[in-house]
Amino acid sequence: EDLSKVLATRILDVPDYPQPGVVFKDITPLLGDPSAFAPVVAAMAEQVRAAGATRVAGLEARGFILAAPVALAAGVGFVPVRKAGKLPRATYREDYHLEYGTATIEVHRDAFAPGERVMIVDDILATGGTAVAAANLVRDAGAEPVGLSVLMELGFLNGRERFEQAVPEAEILTL
Ligand code: 5GP
Repeated sequence: EDLSKVLATRILDVPDYPQPGVVFKDITPLLGDPSAFAPVVAAMAEQVRAAGATRVAGLEARGFILAAPVALAAGVGFVPVRKAGKLPRATYREDYHLEYGTATIEVHRDAFAPGERVMIVDDILATGGTAVAAANLVRDAGAEPVGLSVLMELGFLNGRERFEQAVPEAEILTL
């Protein structure tokens, strides 16, 4: 079973969630099946190694689920990029726009060594707002965003274009 088939069969389209007109990608079947989850983690870990990344930054909350095993499999450290108010020590913060309203994410100020190469991991690239904000946090913290690894992108939301424009130094990697 190749990875594209694994993803096609284990990521479900949920119509009208979280609101009417939105089709939500539900990754819980993938997470619940080790014969799918394991090769996905292995493929993302290979992307981390190929990029020469020395940290994996996972985006709260679904990004955490992927990024932690990916970091371990690649033999590098995991860094949580969290929603505002959750990290206990000094942070950098980034505000960004969502479809409705704004959001804030944070990373610990000492999360990265200077110049460190960072792979950002999330489940889905939608509008790209979250990924761009995360890349800005990596830069604020003195490190280099070298890649964005996601399970899939929602092409019609143009997240790729937005991310490539804002973070040209990082490659977008899908499975
Ligand atoms: P953005 O629009 O900033 O690219 O996406 C916002 C956040 O919501 C990202 O962390 C992304 O993983 C998540 N997200 C957006 N749409 C979906 C979806 O359809 N399914 C899942 N699982 N996550 C989504």
